Amino acid sequence: MNLPTVAIVGRPNVGKSSLFNRFLHRQLAVVHETPGVTRDRNYAMCEWAGREFRLIDTGGLVPESGELMDRLIYEQTEFAVREADLVLFLVDTHVGVDQIDEQIARRLRESGKPIILVANKADSEQHDLEVFSFLRLGLGDPVPVSATVGRLVGDLLDMVIARLP
Ligand code: GDP
Repeated sequence: MNLPTVAIVGRPNVGKSSLFNRFLHRQLAVVHETPGVTRDRNYAMCEWAGREFRLIDTGGLVPESGELMDRLIYEQTEFAVREADLVLFLVDTHVGVDQIDEQIARRLRESGKPIILVANKADSEQHDLEVFSFLRLGLGDPVPVSATVGRLVGDLLDMVIARLP
């Protein structure tokens, strides 16, 4: 069966793998093997509210050793644009808009893919106002979540399901 694919993209340290793991805790997920992928734990089948999708943490795609960061991020973003039906673009509320975020945002806007801009590390309500600084990325309203605390992750999953093809 051809399941819709959701990819998590973003620069290092924004919390991609934390969110990936958090999604897996929220439902019975079976990590499944995908040929050609070195670390299959970066792919998982997820189910939420009766909808199934394939989740990919692009941060887990293994770089060639010595590869430049720019190149790595570029390749992960291209991979997501090519493979995903929906892209979760993660940014870090503690840091705000970073230059790399802007580069990724530009590419994602050009792609015309459905994007959810996810403002991670919004660990408490106190952070929810800060997420508006990400409006300038031009990808719509940022959605606050906290991958480590688990805050608002269910709401994000509801949005994911609503945006799947
Ligand atoms: P990745 O490089 O994008 O996959 O990021 P990681 O998932 O490895 O997280 C990078 C760092 O940010 C780790 O120290 C995490 O514990 C931390 N982190 C991730 N999500 C959150 C969050 O929601 N709140 C806070 N306070 N820290 C987080």
